[in-house]
Amino acid sequence: MKIIDITQELFSCNVYPGDKQPTYERVCTIAENGYNLTTFSMSVHNGTHMDAPGHFVAGRKSVHELDLSIFYGPCTVVEVEGEISGEKMAAILKSCQERLLIKGDCSFSEASAVALAASHVRLIGIEGQSVGSLEDPAFIHVIMLEKDVIPLEGLVLTDVAPGEYTLAAFPLLMEGSDGSPVRAVLISQE
Ligand SMILES: [Zn+2]
Repeated sequence: MKIIDITQELFSCNVYPGDKQPTYERVCTIAENGYNLTTFSMSVHNGTHMDAPGHFVAGRKSVHELDLSIFYGPCTVVEVEGEISGEKMAAILKSCQERLLIKGDCSFSEASAVALAASHVRLIGIEGQSVGSLEDPAFIHVIMLEKDVIPLEGLVLTDVAPGEYTLAAFPLLMEGSDGSPVRAVLISQE
């Protein structure tokens, strides 16, 4: 068994334009206090994280209300560059697991997001910081989140070959939150 870390380091992570940068403060040190103690501050959408449906859809589930089985289990990794067409997504959906990670610099067309939202997929992972476009972040998010397809954003799939894995990427238990950082890993049987 091999565990592949697909998470960004938090304090040097990619920050979505307009989001807060993660910061930390060493409030106690071994030299002065006898122990190290750190506090930190961040957006729940910094680095490698998941979005809850309530991020873009009023009245929908927050992080603490989501079924944890979404975040663990069989997972397919595919590689796509550029905009994903509806036909391309339909082909991927024919043979992928309930968790689908897309490696590459990709974006979703409306047709691909609609096909995904109507499919068996419960979690969609990408390397970019947002499944939506910079110009209209809400549009693709809403298509997915209205059907409870959970985006897992900011993954690092550089060293991951397309194929079949087990994903583990649990959110923190944060009542009412619209997203959460995760430690995402792929487990391969090799
Ligand atoms: Zn997000």
